[in-house]
Amino acid sequence: MDCIFCKIAKKEILKEFIYKDQEMMVFPDINPIAPVHLLIMPKKHIVDFLDLEDNLLFGKLKTVIQKLIKNQKLEDRGYKIIVNGGGAQIINHLHFHLIGPLGKKVSIE
Ligand code: 5GP
Ligand code: ZN
Repeated sequence: MDCIFCKIAKKEILKEFIYKDQEMMVFPDINPIAPVHLLIMPKKHIVDFLDLEDNLLFGKLKTVIQKLIKNQKLEDRGYKIIVNGGGAQIINHLHFHLIGPLGKKVSIE
């Protein structure tokens, strides 16, 4: 299979990881749209969000994203988490974008 993120997971393409464990990896987007633009994903090839059946893995991804929000100091500076799918994605290997800082909006209570 010719998947760039699988190649990164299998170390066929060298990448500096922000975080890595048995199941997941995090590295900066090659084309960042904000000062922090990280890609968080399972190492296993899961095509898209609808194919994510493993709730344990989903929970682990969530925990890693929460830690990244904090250690990238985004918790109070504005951030966005995006998962593209249904053809709106370029790479068909599930990944979450963490993007920030985006600044604050005036909230209406
Ligand atoms: P999506 O599939 O959600 O539209 O976005 C894929 C993202 O992966 C894009 O933001 C693109 O810049 C990024 N990307 C594509 N190829 C590579 C790569 O080889 N390395 C890294 N770090 N990011 C990539
Ligand atoms: Zn893949």
